[in-house]
Amino acid sequence: MEVALPVRRAGFPFINPLKEEDSAMTTGYVYERIFHKHNWPDHPENAKRLNAMIGYLEAHQILPRLKHIPSREAKIHELQRCHHPLYIEHVEDTCRFGGGMLDADTYTNKFSFEAAAHAAGGLIELCRAVVTGELDNGFALIRPPGHHATPNRAMGFCIFGNTPIAARAMQNGVGVERAAIVDFDVHHGNGTQAILEEDPSIMFVSSHQYPFYPGTGSVREVGTGPAKGTKVNLPLTPFMGDEDVKALYSQIVFPLLRRFQPELIIVSAGFDAHWDDPLANIGLTLTGYHWLVTSLINLAAEICNGKIVFALEGGYNLNVVAPAVGNTFRALLGDTDFDDPLGVSPWVEPDVAPLLAQLKIIHGLPR
Ligand SMILES: [Zn+2]
Repeated sequence: MEVALPVRRAGFPFINPLKEEDSAMTTGYVYERIFHKHNWPDHPENAKRLNAMIGYLEAHQILPRLKHIPSREAKIHELQRCHHPLYIEHVEDTCRFGGGMLDADTYTNKFSFEAAAHAAGGLIELCRAVVTGELDNGFALIRPPGHHATPNRAMGFCIFGNTPIAARAMQNGVGVERAAIVDFDVHHGNGTQAILEEDPSIMFVSSHQYPFYPGTGSVREVGTGPAKGTKVNLPLTPFMGDEDVKALYSQIVFPLLRRFQPELIIVSAGFDAHWDDPLANIGLTLTGYHWLVTSLINLAAEICNGKIVFALEGGYNLNVVAPAVGNTFRALLGDTDFDDPLGVSPWVEPDVAPLLAQLKIIHGLPR
């Protein structure tokens, strides 16, 4: 006898029966041991980064307040929505034979394919839990990072484009039509942009030091064909800091996100724009990062029912990334306190007004 099972309707939010009516936010996280096995101890993108973050979350009693979402390997067809089949095979084969360099910066070992597939699959599962209402929001502590990975090559420590893979998975199964990816890593998210270049259904915003690695990300890169205007690049001059970034996000990014009306915001969360990061020269503080994270969470509450998911990208000073990740979880949980043991930037911020004016003209915002 056939039993009629309840049908999961695309786009229909689930009610979480475990959630108390007056409880604080239900915040999820993704974190697995497999992310430690993709490792090269002398490389800046190594497994100690996750140890520092998890250690901080435990020491500050944040971890017990979070719901763990188990990760899984992204399926080949989920990866293929963003990557060429031959590239995926190349990564798998390289790792099967023990690993090797995929480009000058991007190492692999025998565990890297599995770790990269779990990074993408873990983010998919976290986004699914947020979109369906099982969670309010979340942060995926995943490695390897993803935003430099293009459709057909690894770059800059990144193997698979975690955020566009997750965004497209949400468009195939849970009814999301429009998503936005906001990338505040100090490096341009060239891979994410390349994957989404002609896709008008996913907005991509990147703020990054410029000119700098990987060389792309000028104000003139706005997407092509039907996607023109849905890609937004904010090239930051060295030593720009909290006030410049506040002006750029308040006057450019937030109005454009309001105009685009995404149903989900995924944040490529890199903490290497902090003034004490060893790889770059942008002057954000932990206080500035806290403003940025809190503002994005508030904007999501305003325009997309609070549906926001953070995904770890870069950040190479362990004394920065640990409290930065802790502060992000605090903000997701609805706490107002945060931690800034490192204090202010030593640099004077350059004038951001010319860049603001240029961006307003390019993106048709009132001056
Ligand atoms: Zn970076």
